[in-house]
Amino acid sequence: MASASNTTILSSQKEKPPKPKYNMFQNSWFMVSLAWKTEEKKVVILSLLTAVLAVAHNLVNLYVSPTILSVLERKASMPELIWTIVLFTAALIFVSAAAAYINSNILFGKITVRSRILSLLNRKSATTSYPNLNEDKFKKLVAASSNAVSGNSEATEAIWQTLSSLLTNVLGFVIYISLLTSVQPVLILVITATAVTGYFLGNYLNGYEYRHCDEKSEYIRHIDYISGQSKDWGAAKDIRIFGLRPWLEELYTKALDSLMAFRGKAESVYLWAKLADVVLALLRNGIAYAYLISMVLTDRISVSEFLLFFTAVSGFATWVTGILTEFNTLYKQSLDITTVRECLEYHEPFKFEDGEPLKAEKKEYEIRLEDISFRYPGAEKDVLTNINLTLRPGEKLAVVGLNGAGKTTLVKLICGFLNPTRGRVLLDGRDIRDFNRRDYYDMFSAVFQQFSLLAATVASNVAQSETEIDLERVKECVDKADLRKKIESLPQSYETYLNREVYEDSVMLSGGETQRLMLARALYKDAPFIILDEPTAALDPIAESNMYQKYNEMTSGKSSIYISHRLASTRFCDRIIMIDNGGICEEGTHDQLLKLGGKYADLYEVQSKYYREGEDVHEE
Ligand code: ADP
Repeated sequence: MASASNTTILSSQKEKPPKPKYNMFQNSWFMVSLAWKTEEKKVVILSLLTAVLAVAHNLVNLYVSPTILSVLERKASMPELIWTIVLFTAALIFVSAAAAYINSNILFGKITVRSRILSLLNRKSATTSYPNLNEDKFKKLVAASSNAVSGNSEATEAIWQTLSSLLTNVLGFVIYISLLTSVQPVLILVITATAVTGYFLGNYLNGYEYRHCDEKSEYIRHIDYISGQSKDWGAAKDIRIFGLRPWLEELYTKALDSLMAFRGKAESVYLWAKLADVVLALLRNGIAYAYLISMVLTDRISVSEFLLFFTAVSGFATWVTGILTEFNTLYKQSLDITTVRECLEYHEPFKFEDGEPLKAEKKEYEIRLEDISFRYPGAEKDVLTNINLTLRPGEKLAVVGLNGAGKTTLVKLICGFLNPTRGRVLLDGRDIRDFNRRDYYDMFSAVFQQFSLLAATVASNVAQSETEIDLERVKECVDKADLRKKIESLPQSYETYLNREVYEDSVMLSGGETQRLMLARALYKDAPFIILDEPTAALDPIAESNMYQKYNEMTSGKSSIYISHRLASTRFCDRIIMIDNGGICEEGTHDQLLKLGGKYADLYEVQSKYYREGEDVHEE
């Protein structure tokens, strides 16, 4: 049976290979200007110097034997011979030492430039328009780009070495060409012709992985996912209880085998590229050597000249092969850098810095949803249809409905995580699409169902900062979230580290405690709107009841949205809307909705019966 992922892979294989957005010259320039802007100019300068020194080293080596031989041929004096040897040796020592010095100095600069790209990629992932995170193309670009910045040998760092070697080869090529033209210009034509053929052939064959990049990142994503699951703290309990390890290992092996088969296919294509290169090099050198030998046999050049040209011919072939190899390497690295740039430049459907700035200047705002419909990309029908809703300044609104009704989607539209497919979201009458979306996010405080607790201290997690922490306010918010006693009983109180994955002496909070900490964080932010998505899901009944009692105090002076599938928990809100079948089916206060005797009342009856029975069972 073909799995869904195999289907994706097969269909992506049929697609026409994408043309890289940038060529290797554009990407080299991108890296040079990035190094320049990152204040790592020395990477560029030292790379140039490395090339010059490498050519100098080669030239000293090229001339050392023929020069000594010609001194001997002239039967020159012993001091002249010794001087010649000393000069060449000194030149070699100087050039090698300078190259070694530069090499050790350039290393940190190269790493800094790569780290800069890594931080740009991290920033892109953390700040990109929310819908991008749901797009397969973006996810694949992120995975492939992370690979391109993951180590010293990856494109974003290794390119400096390639550029430097390429320059070395080009400089050497130019110098040797003038040397060999004096022997036989046709030789140069033969070598150049074979070289150009090898270059284009190599380029085509070496582009295999890029042409199949979708397939490759699909395999890598599978592997990353499975190894991520094996280490995932959340899945750890299931893995043990259900004995999932052998299954995970089977899945991992299967995914790894697919990647290996792909790599095998790619390597066999690369092998053909190498083979073609070798055959062409043999042809080049064979013709050149035959010609030089014939010149010696017909006394047209001296022995020392023969030695010079003989070395120069093999050196020239090396430069040519070097240029081809470095171009091929640069081509492959350029493809990786293109991926990185495509990721960094990935289309943003939201306005950020190009949007109108927005600053929370007052406490209360109005949000209006005007004829909103929303459909997830690729879905067959709308999740929400023609919603009209006004969240009045200071209002406490509750959104209720069954699982999957669209409550979270509605909140995502209000918070600006999604743009409606039709209709508008208005903040005080202005379409939110006009604003800088980051400024718009500042209008909200929220507790979502998925927590994002970082491995940092309690205080930092509440204040969302390492440095700017108002400890008094942290305490106040932790108190409102009913967590003060717990936090102050910890060994280092507000300075206690959370999350065992990073800090050994840290503390693990329970699900309910974490949820309350997230509530404290939302209160600390003190934004005009506060959104609570099932905020009592992980709380015990006492904590839940405390939360209801404090709800008014927590949300005073703000507009709030309280989402719950448990109707009893929304009684204290000013207005309740019930979502069903993609629309608002009922609306009013708790008492009004009960009196209405519709869906809300039915559901309330079912739920309260369930909870009553639940309590009876506990009491027995
Ligand atoms: P609720 O919060 O009421 O439980 P949601 O708003 O999370 O409901 O989901 C509403 C519907 O939208 C569900 O049918 C769900 O499967 C679908 N849905 C939610 N998120 C996505 C997504 N990212 N892509 C596609 N469909 C989604």
